[in-house]
Amino acid sequence: MERQLFDRVYEAVVNRETTYEGIYYTAVKTTKIVCRPTCRAKTPLAGNVTFYATLEEAVRAGYRPCKRCKPEENGPLRPDAVLAEQTDAIIEKRYREKLTLQLLADSLAISPYHLQRVYKQVRGYSPQEKTERVRLARAQKLLLESGDSIADIGGAVGYASPPHFTAWFCKRTGVSPTEYRNGHRGGATYDRK
Ligand SMILES: [Zn+2]
Repeated sequence: MERQLFDRVYEAVVNRETTYEGIYYTAVKTTKIVCRPTCRAKTPLAGNVTFYATLEEAVRAGYRPCKRCKPEENGPLRPDAVLAEQTDAIIEKRYREKLTLQLLADSLAISPYHLQRVYKQVRGYSPQEKTERVRLARAQKLLLESGDSIADIGGAVGYASPPHFTAWFCKRTGVSPTEYRNGHRGGATYDRK
């Protein structure tokens, strides 16, 4: 965002004007909280503020919606959708790790049961399925665009054991990683269950 615009939006935040309500969201680096521009909480220092055009972007960048001004209310992002976005952000960042439901739930400070239920309700599939989709898309990209070995690619998407990676890849796509790389894409795409 260019300086002039930033100054104008920040000025509106200082004065709690409604000019940019629904247009920009105030993300505060020091607290990792995102607010409406009209939030009544103490005005953050300009140096700690980033303005986002959508709440989704702010949440993706790791900010939590403010409990006081509730930027998610009356908007497209319901709290459940916020949780799903936060889950996706963690998965997309940490898909190489052994990502259990427990670990995801711990990172979000909620129970595994609650996470599983809410995520499925919002997305229509489980966090585990999301993790596999992210891994498969990454593996397919690496197979086609890199010269890395099958073992290295497996390792890069969380499968330390090459046979395990190959078996999983076959199950999801109908072809082995080598066949996929050689142009036999099978009849399935990455979203096959
Ligand atoms: Zn707020």
